[in-house]
Amino acid sequence: MALVEALYRIPIMEAISFLDSETAFRIRDEVGTPCYLYDEASLRATAAQTLAFPNAYGLTARFAMKACPNGAILRLFRSLGLQIDGSSIYEARRAITAGYEASEISLSSQEFPDDDALKDLVEQGMSVNACSLNQLSRFGALFPGEKVGVRFNPGLGSGGTQRTNVGGPASSFGIWFEDVDRVTELVEAHGLKVFRIHTHIGSGSDPDVWVKAVSLSLNLVRTFDTVTHLNLGGGYKVGRMPSETTTDLQAIGLKMKAEFEGFAQETGREIHLEVEPGTYLVANSGVLLSTIQDQTSTGESGYDFIKLDSGMTENTRPSMYGSQHPMELFASDATERKSRDYIVTGHCCESGDILTPAPGDPEALSPRSLVDAKVGDLLAIGGTGAYCSSMSAKNYNSFPECPEVMLRLDGSLSLMRKRQSLDQVLANETDLSF
Ligand SMILES: *Cc1c(COP(=O)(O)O)cnc(C)c1O
Repeated sequence: MALVEALYRIPIMEAISFLDSETAFRIRDEVGTPCYLYDEASLRATAAQTLAFPNAYGLTARFAMKACPNGAILRLFRSLGLQIDGSSIYEARRAITAGYEASEISLSSQEFPDDDALKDLVEQGMSVNACSLNQLSRFGALFPGEKVGVRFNPGLGSGGTQRTNVGGPASSFGIWFEDVDRVTELVEAHGLKVFRIHTHIGSGSDPDVWVKAVSLSLNLVRTFDTVTHLNLGGGYKVGRMPSETTTDLQAIGLKMKAEFEGFAQETGREIHLEVEPGTYLVANSGVLLSTIQDQTSTGESGYDFIKLDSGMTENTRPSMYGSQHPMELFASDATERKSRDYIVTGHCCESGDILTPAPGDPEALSPRSLVDAKVGDLLAIGGTGAYCSSMSAKNYNSFPECPEVMLRLDGSLSLMRKRQSLDQVLANETDLSF
């Protein structure tokens, strides 16, 4: 605990701050580009902050592993005390392969696993949040009388864009709160015991939105007197760009704690808190390192473009959401350089493969001021630890999946994943008769 407290005082790392020019060129020479780099010190700091989340009656902190599921990160987080939120049965199995016990995994999946797969892991102790009425009825038929979590859509959402919104009427995640009577019927029909309410609405960084989410969720807890745990999901916003704010977990957590205490005073029920950040734990601990492999210009009324050896094959967020990522150029020579506005493009033959879209608008271009670029320079794209490696347009244009490297506490580099070979890209193609 002393260590956790000490680490909590480390301010959250700014994107890219852990990477200097010397290390960037060392990575290029030892591993090649493109390459994801993760910073062990930053990962340890965000894990410590998450584990220090204020709570009234106990805390379970989980890593939403879909954000970055490499086994090295899973093992590091397990050694620090984080458990797992899995979003598919495959993730659950991957976490077990990395050393997690099934009992350390909570499954909240859009696609319910088939019966045998589910039975296997539930019998080993994995907990399940039923995320639809259909899932609840299937769980009840398979495990009558068992403990189950129920994920609700409490009717409120606050994601940054429609595509990142995970609550409210436009979201399919969880059971719509007005269907609570249907839940009660299914629970009674199968003799289930609802031990956990789960909500995940992507509440962002505003403490007032979090308080609202807690109070709606506690209303659902009130409906089920068997519930002992409330899982509020993730969605803690991280500032990737200098102008964006990162959630203050202590500030939010203390307000949430007061809600739990109020609920206990009113009902006598001391509810255990679960949090499961993905983004918060990894976003600013990752950098995508690329080489500038070409340049072009579309004239005076057009744009200057720099072309990377990476793109939507490593980071789909700009193309999907118009996400903003900080960028830093590492010059390959010591010449004096001015700065210039650039559109940064990926290497795919796809007009949407742009890394500098307008904020929140993947269709529009937003030139970025960078140091005057030359072919052979390196470009680091920050804030790429979450939903980049895990959400890539893998193998598009037949580019191989790129390597992942960890910058260890002692400054050494360890290879967490090798670059894919062409044989691996082709490995599952079977019909060679054409
Ligand atoms: C994706 C997800 C999370 C993590 O969300 P972040 O925005 O990355 O913090 C947590 N819980 C559930 C159920 C999720 O689907």
